Amino acid sequence: MKEIQIGGLVSFTTIDYPGKLAGVLFLKGCPLRCAYCSNPHLLEVGDGPYDPDKVFDWIKSRVGKLEAIVFSGGEALMQGDATINYMQRVRDLGFNIGLHTNGFYPALLKVAEPFVDWIGLDYKATRAKYSELVGNDIAFDKMSESLDFWLSTGKDFEVRITCDPRFISKDDLVEIVNDCAKRGVRKIAIQKYTPYFDEGDRQTTSEQREQFFNDQDLRNKINSMFESAIWRE
Ligand code: SF4
Repeated sequence: MKEIQIGGLVSFTTIDYPGKLAGVLFLKGCPLRCAYCSNPHLLEVGDGPYDPDKVFDWIKSRVGKLEAIVFSGGEALMQGDATINYMQRVRDLGFNIGLHTNGFYPALLKVAEPFVDWIGLDYKATRAKYSELVGNDIAFDKMSESLDFWLSTGKDFEVRITCDPRFISKDDLVEIVNDCAKRGVRKIAIQKYTPYFDEGDRQTTSEQREQFFNDQDLRNKINSMFESAIWRE
């Protein structure tokens, strides 16, 4: 079987798995090409610079020190069985398993589910603007299927919306959170867009990026709709 390809590692974090001390593995490969991607070096599938056996030894050394290991990317499920088997081995050590996912692989999410305790699922834009943002025509439907599946498991999760003003307006944000609330999502995270790279001919201003966070009425409305609404600025 193909080995898991690991492109990056964070040895300690308190923000990537809610309420748990965690380490994060960034896996290679992603089927999307989001306009705001901050990890372009992870997008292509290929050899990761980390030796999976050495990383596993390091994870073993974290037993009793960390509570969770988060599989991020890229899109961790793009590596299929290699990721899922590694998750299983890590979970057998006693860690909670987190998954940051764009939801593009609902069938693989179903296979991985027994070994995953929590997910952070990206809901990137309204259906109308999704393909323009991510460069893929079927990504919205795949994400939507993953969302419905994870809801059906009853397991904990968070929906994440990154407010890139080039692709999300305040009205769009309201449309997205209404859809989430209607489906039964209980935890949501509204994330500020940070331009990591040159925005070319679609420059944004800080005022545009902060409009969602400065609107107290919008914040109050969204806060009242969910058990938990986190504003990540
Ligand atoms: S899903 Fe994530 S890793 Fe993939 S292109 Fe979009 S932002 Fe980048």
